[in-house]
Amino acid sequence: MKITALDAFPIRLPARRDFKWAGLRENLGGFVVVRLETEDGIVGWGEATPLPDWGGAAGRRGGETQATVLTMIRDVLAPVVIGLDVSQTTQARLAMDRAAIGNSYAKVAIDIALHDAWGKTLGQPIHRLLGGQVRDRVAWAHMVGLMSETEALDEALGAVADGCTALQIKGGLDVDRDVRLIAAIRSEAPDVFLRLDANQGYRAARAGIDAMRRLRDAGADACEQPVADMRSMAAVTQSGALPVIADESCWDAVDAMDLVAHGAADWFSIYLAKAGGFVGASKVAAIAETMNIRCDVNGSIESAIGTAANVQFSLAMPAVSLPGVYPVSAPAGQHPCKIAGHYYTDDILTEPMAVEAGHILSLDAPGLGIEIDEARLARYRQDLA
Ligand SMILES: [Mg+2]
Repeated sequence: MKITALDAFPIRLPARRDFKWAGLRENLGGFVVVRLETEDGIVGWGEATPLPDWGGAAGRRGGETQATVLTMIRDVLAPVVIGLDVSQTTQARLAMDRAAIGNSYAKVAIDIALHDAWGKTLGQPIHRLLGGQVRDRVAWAHMVGLMSETEALDEALGAVADGCTALQIKGGLDVDRDVRLIAAIRSEAPDVFLRLDANQGYRAARAGIDAMRRLRDAGADACEQPVADMRSMAAVTQSGALPVIADESCWDAVDAMDLVAHGAADWFSIYLAKAGGFVGASKVAAIAETMNIRCDVNGSIESAIGTAANVQFSLAMPAVSLPGVYPVSAPAGQHPCKIAGHYYTDDILTEPMAVEAGHILSLDAPGLGIEIDEARLARYRQDLA
């Protein structure tokens, strides 16, 4: 089934509150949506969630915006993808990489749309295209953004009260504050899986190692990206105080190989966006599985399209055994939780995702497994000019 049309447009979803982390200036909620069509009229949906001020370790990657993603898709990437068969996801990836290096957020939006359309053509959910599910649900963690200690404690305990069993706490600006906050959450929620995401904020190896020990003593279970460069990540990991998760340091298969070679992380955080789509992210997951490295699948608080893609990927990858920061996507007024997984007050799908005891249940309908609400999509369409 040939791809005959591919269009992209920006949308913005309303956020429930401000969600920030170290280095992030704009609030979440801005996306680029891709609509791809095949010769027999099947429509595939894709999404990018570019954040201009979030990127690779020490700021060496990323920097895409809604505007750059739109331009890349319309002018550079769509022309090399239109005309391919919808099943040629690897060929599409090769063609996009030949057309332009980098720009992984622009590429992921097309890659997700391709997989959605391919699955719909076959009448199968994406997880079956990736080898079938190895689990029937994915554990989800709620992200607590950078906010005052009182607000962060309320947000964390509210998520736990909603049945969420894992938290990702944003920190990295002030280790004393992070340690106090972790201790306060731990004393109220003894069983929750608690990871602190420093977004490289502890700067250098010696400070990172000190922070790890203090966070461990306060009750943290893991620390994500405590420092930036590979040598410091290796020193902190090898100090052994807490499992270290590589996020900014782990974009693609080359990064994953480097992290393994340097012993610079215990666990990996995979994003479809960092690796440019299912094809690239599968390589990272394969390296992790081979080396017995556990992974989560995270992202940048996607809309329903990106979240469904993340869930489909996680269902099929044996290495993805850690809880990930997936929003629970739901239309306005139908969210199953007050706080947990609840980042946007509305979303662009017709039915809320199903949750049970800290898990999002499998999405088994063809493609992404969700139905897009085109009226909502039109309502949140943005004019960037
Ligand atoms: Mg992170």
